[in-house]
Amino acid sequence: ARKFALEEIIPVAAQYDRTGEVNPPLRRKIQIFLLTENLKPPCIPSCPPTGGLGLGTFEACLITEELAYGCTGVQTAIEANSLGQMPVIIAGNKQQQKKYLGRMTEEPLMCAYCVTEPGAGSDVAGIRTRAERKGDQYVINGQKMWITNGGKANWYFLLARTDPDPRAPAGKAFTGFIVEADSPGIQIGRKELNMGQRCSDTRGIVFEDVRVPKENVLIAEGAGFKIAMGAFDKTRPPVAAGAVGLARRALDEATRYALERKTFGKPIVEHQAVAFLLAEMAMKVELARLGYQRAAWEVDAGRRNTFYASIAKAFAGDVANQVATDAVQIFGGNGFNTEYPVEKLMRDAKIYQIYEGTAQIQRVIIAREHLGRYKA
Ligand SMILES: Cc1cc2nc3c(=O)[nH]c(=O)nc-3n(C[C@H](O)[C@H](O)[C@H](O)COP(=O)(O)OP(=O)(O)OC[C@H]3O[C@@H](n4cnc5c(N)ncnc54)[C@H](O)[C@@H]3O)c2cc1C
Repeated sequence: ARKFALEEIIPVAAQYDRTGEVNPPLRRKIQIFLLTENLKPPCIPSCPPTGGLGLGTFEACLITEELAYGCTGVQTAIEANSLGQMPVIIAGNKQQQKKYLGRMTEEPLMCAYCVTEPGAGSDVAGIRTRAERKGDQYVINGQKMWITNGGKANWYFLLARTDPDPRAPAGKAFTGFIVEADSPGIQIGRKELNMGQRCSDTRGIVFEDVRVPKENVLIAEGAGFKIAMGAFDKTRPPVAAGAVGLARRALDEATRYALERKTFGKPIVEHQAVAFLLAEMAMKVELARLGYQRAAWEVDAGRRNTFYASIAKAFAGDVANQVATDAVQIFGGNGFNTEYPVEKLMRDAKIYQIYEGTAQIQRVIIAREHLGRYKA
C-alpha cells in the first residue's frame, strides 16, 4: 500500500484536487489493487458468502494510513466503501451479504452510507426520510445530504424512519435498508464543491417513492438506529488512520523543507523553534497512531470499543489539523501557495473534525462512556 501510494497516488493527487475527480482508470486501478494484492476490500469478512479476505480492522487501518499518506481525497473516495458496507457486515443476513458484499469482492464497485440529511447530521434521530410498508415492499421518501460516493455508488445503506410516532424511541423508530442505486425514483444531486478532499464525490440524493423489497431490511423493522451507529465503532479507527496518514505526510514534507530552506545562514531546522515544532508534530503523529491501533485492536479482540474509537477519531482529527497547519507555518509564504503540497493538506485535514461524527460529538461520546464506567 505504501509503494502504491508513492508510485500511483502522489504523482496525480494535486491534479485530482484541481479537477475534483479521481479519474476512473485510477479509481479502478486502486480498487483492483485492493481486490487482488491479497488485500481484497480490507474490511469484508472472510466468511464464505462474501469471498472477502477477512483482514482485521487493525490491518485495514494500516492500509488506510498508507493510502491517506498519498492523498486523503483519493483514499476517502475509495474507502468510503467501508462505511457503506459496514451495516451489511455487522447486520446483514447470509443472502444480503452474498448479494451485496459478494459483488464488492468480485468487481471494482462503490457503495455509500446514506444517513445525513439537510436538517440533521449530528442529531441522527432528527432525520425525516420516511419508509412505509406497502405489502412486500417499503416506499421511501426523503432527502439525504453529503453522501460520499453518492454519484458513484452501486447500492446504498439508507436509514429511514418507519415509526411515524414522534414519541417512539430512536432505538425502535428507524430501519436500515439496502437500496439499489438504479431504483426508479432516485435523483442524484450535483457534486458538491468542498474545501478539501475535493476529488471525493459528495452529493445530495432525493428519494421519491423509491420501492425497496422487504428482503432488503437489515435485521428487522426498528433496528436501524443501532446498526447505523454501531457501524462507527468499526469505521472510526480507519478514519483516524486516514488522519494519521495525512499528519505523517505533513510532517515528512515539513521536515524535508526545513532541512533545505536556509535563513540567517543556516537551515531553518537549526533554529530551535522550528526543530521543536517538528518534535511536537512527531509526538502527535506517533500518539495518534497508537490511538487508532488501540481502537482497532479492541474491536478485533471482540470487545466493545466505542470509547477508544471516539478517542482515536477525535484525537487524530485534531492532530491532522494541528500538524498540517504547522507544516504550512514551516513552509512560510510557500506554504500558502498551491505549488507546494502543504496547503492542500491543511484543506484536506478539516473534514476529519466533521465527518463520521464531529469533534464535539466524539467528546460527547467519550464523556458518556467515561462517566458510565463510574456510574455502573
Ligand atoms: C465531505 C463530507 C462527506 C460526508 N459523507 C457522509 C456520508 O457518506 N454519509 C453520511 O450519512 N453523512 C456524511 N457526511 C455528513 C457528516 O457526517 C455531517 O456533516 C456531520 O455529522 C455533522 O452534521 P451537520 O453537518 O448536520 O452539522 P450539525 O449537526 O448541524 O452541527 C453543527 C455544529 O454543532 C455542533 N454540535 C451539534 N450537536 C452538538 C452537541 N450535542 N454538542 C456539542 N456540539 C454539537 C457540531 O459539532 C458542529 O460543530 C459528510 C459530510 C461532509 C462535509
